[in-house]
Amino acid sequence: MSHTKKNLIKVKNLKKHFSSGLFHKTCVKAVDGISFCIPSGKTLGMVGESGSGKSTVGRCILRLIEPTCGEIYFQGKDILATKGDHRNLRKQMQIIFQDADGSMNPRIKVIDQLLEPLRVHKLLNGQIKETAADLMKLVNLSADLMDRYPHELSGGQRQRIGIARAISINPGFIVADEAAASLDLLVQAQMMDLLKRLQSERGISYLYISHNLPIIRRMADTVAVMYLGRFVETGKTKDIFNSPAHPYTQALLSAVPSINPLARPKKNMLRGEIPSPLQPSCGCSFHPRCSQAGTICSQIIPEKRHIGRDHWAWCHFVSHKRAAA
Ligand code: SF4
Repeated sequence: MSHTKKNLIKVKNLKKHFSSGLFHKTCVKAVDGISFCIPSGKTLGMVGESGSGKSTVGRCILRLIEPTCGEIYFQGKDILATKGDHRNLRKQMQIIFQDADGSMNPRIKVIDQLLEPLRVHKLLNGQIKETAADLMKLVNLSADLMDRYPHELSGGQRQRIGIARAISINPGFIVADEAAASLDLLVQAQMMDLLKRLQSERGISYLYISHNLPIIRRMADTVAVMYLGRFVETGKTKDIFNSPAHPYTQALLSAVPSINPLARPKKNMLRGEIPSPLQPSCGCSFHPRCSQAGTICSQIIPEKRHIGRDHWAWCHFVSHKRAAA
């Protein structure tokens, strides 16, 4: 990933380990030493199966959970060095959850939930109905819905309220965690268009987290593919999708059905399930599922390899394959 443009977010060697089991003797490495940058007004798509650690990354950046170690910079400032009240940081960094239902109180009217961030940050100037109507207009919702309860809205409308809440305090950075996952395809497309429009109007940077590759392809400028707490491949979106180098990325892409009905069905290369992080493998963590594994793979963790401009992969054989191609 390029480090040359002005980066809004910079993360260095981030780790989040959880202890579990009797006497906390077992260590789960949910995130295990990842580094990346997100330039202003750009989107990093973080993709991987459920259990890969991508949501934990988003929560660490927002300090909803505390990282075990690492460095996180926002506008050049080390946010982990900031102790105590994180309110000022929260004003600039927001999250949109997958489950708008779960993040809304069913007993509180839409208008009150919508304006809550403005109230918390003391930014509400008294024009309550007007402010709510303006926010709803921004996300293409009728102001008539503001006096309803969440269950009286459709899933897409609730998700738009979640987006309106997030942008109400004008943040520079938003973590969108599976923000369109629970919606049908048409509403999903509308949601992505909305997020892109808001990005171009306001210069917001997104960390877009999803297991859905077509969504990542549409939303992201750069992509990080994650597996069991580590990156396995990073690069520009077009390089990841047009010339995936890592066997895991290739396997994920092979599992995406083609939208062309005339296309020959692809062979799904993704074998088995993501293993439990409680029993990590030695060497490359993908080796039990990798169709291209060699002897070295179960013994030595692969180093990061440069395989093209802003394109990196963590695989013992990747540069050999490219050289041979
Ligand atoms: Fe597969 Fe080996 Fe590459 Fe891991 S290092 S992805 S096991 S070929």
